[in-house]
Amino acid sequence: MRPVDGTETGTPNDTVVMKFGGTSVADAERIKRAATRIVAKREAGQRVVVVLSARGKETDRLIADAMEISERPDPREMDMLLSTGERVSCALAAMAIHDMGHEAISLTGSQAGIVTDTSHTRARILDVRADRILEALDQGRIVLVAGFQGVSTAKDVTTLGRGGSDTTAVALAAAVGADSCEIYTDVPGVFNADPRIEPRARKIDVVSYEEMLEMSASGAGVLQLRSVEYARTHGVRIHCRSSFEDTPGTWVVSEAEVAAHHKEHTVEHPLITAVTHSTVEARITLQGVPDSPGAAGKITSALAAAEINVDMIIQNEPSEAGARADMSFTVPREDLLGAQDALGLVVAELGITNVGTEPEMGKVSIVGAGMKTHPGVAAKVFTVLGEEGINIQMIATSPIKISCVVPGDQVPAAVQVLHAAFGLSGDDTIRPEQPFGEFA
Ligand code: ADP
Ligand code: ASP
Ligand code: MG
Repeated sequence: MRPVDGTETGTPNDTVVMKFGGTSVADAERIKRAATRIVAKREAGQRVVVVLSARGKETDRLIADAMEISERPDPREMDMLLSTGERVSCALAAMAIHDMGHEAISLTGSQAGIVTDTSHTRARILDVRADRILEALDQGRIVLVAGFQGVSTAKDVTTLGRGGSDTTAVALAAAVGADSCEIYTDVPGVFNADPRIEPRARKIDVVSYEEMLEMSASGAGVLQLRSVEYARTHGVRIHCRSSFEDTPGTWVVSEAEVAAHHKEHTVEHPLITAVTHSTVEARITLQGVPDSPGAAGKITSALAAAEINVDMIIQNEPSEAGARADMSFTVPREDLLGAQDALGLVVAELGITNVGTEPEMGKVSIVGAGMKTHPGVAAKVFTVLGEEGINIQMIATSPIKISCVVPGDQVPAAVQVLHAAFGLSGDDTIRPEQPFGEFA
């Protein structure tokens, strides 16, 4: 097994999966640069599977093309459209590799044997039938697989949701028994805040699946949430690293491996691992919800049937018996229209008097396994945000995460102030054994 210090030492005949994101294959020069890195692995004797994203902002462009034609594009046709971006990248990279004197073959998700459910635009991988990939590897070829896509059990092309090439890569790593899954991106690894918002953010060397799951779920788009779920379930070790420089990145591994790493390097686990954020939240408020058993179940079932993930939910208790309640919840902004559609019938059935929407919401979260055993963290988060004049509109917690919904335009300030308050920049990380002073 490769050490988690990120050195390039792969053993010959190991299989490696390398995934390059959109920025890393944005133009001809970058595709050639990625090809050079891919070929170097092959020349070191490794069996190489590559997963590529669409070039640059191609997926955004394709979505914009669809929206120009239709306000609610048909999901099946949307997948036909979106899956083209990654195919272009793979064909071009295969040409570059051929020119470097190596054998390469590009495959669509379907040709690579990625079988999904039928949920267009957010399909889940059910199975990977990797025989064609393994055959090509046995023939000494480099295999390039178009990320973010598969074929459904109904034989239609599907896509895996934004950022889905990460999940393609992890699923292939599991299927071909790769030693690790290398995710090459435009930052040197996973940082303790988005470096675009907090320039003092530090790279994390090693992080557990559990913490990374909470980070991805709360907005750290550097790894798609499902890729981390898949990696945890199948024990795939992820190495997230820079596609522009050859430095060690971040290893996402089991808690046991994180603990062993900390022990070996005599570092303690920090109290707070990262501050994450999302600026793509929307809030729906239902007024006049009947205060009777089953109402919340009907509302959330309608959303679940439309495959919409509800994040935070608040329901107030009416002051008088028999009165009606208000219920607020957040959904990803891209699902706002879909959620309104999905609620139509149940709103009528329950006699809900008003459906209010606020599309410009954001969320800031702190994540850290250290907080499990340390009271006072929530108090510190709320106090710090309050002192910054940031009004918290909803709160949700898990044993290792505290999330606050705040107005979208206050998200950067909220990230920066929490990052500083928990000592996450420079060498001043707060260790669990350190007291919180006034917050303890
Ligand atoms: P790719 O196209 O390579 O898949 P993404 O844009 O999906 O790249 O992910 C990389 C981006 O994720 C970074 O440019 C960064 O702005 C953002 N990001 C958000 N949170 C984090 C974080 N905690 N650590 C690193 N990057 C982050
Ligand atoms: N191209 C897709 C997206 O932009 C998938 C990916 O890059 O992972 O979301
Ligand atoms: Mg990505």
